[in-house]
Amino acid sequence: MKHACEEISRLASEKLERSLSFMESIRLRLHLLMCSACRHYDAHITTLHKVLKIRRKNTLDTVRLPQHKRKKIEKALKDSSSD
Ligand SMILES: [Zn+2]
Repeated sequence: MKHACEEISRLASEKLERSLSFMESIRLRLHLLMCSACRHYDAHITTLHKVLKIRRKNTLDTVRLPQHKRKKIEKALKDSSSD
């Protein structure tokens, strides 16, 4: 892995946790335009991050509200709105 790629892969994962500075995001974007390896890496971890986020959200929802109760509420809402 090239030195630049190491830095870019670090920036790519950091951008998921914090907002990058202007210069950092420029450097990241320029590099991604030129380097397909980092482009793939960036796409991969971004997807992974989204999946984990959705799963974490679903887990929290499930803790607050079990599936069958949610279904019941959804049905009640649907029934009441169809009147
Ligand atoms: Zn690269």
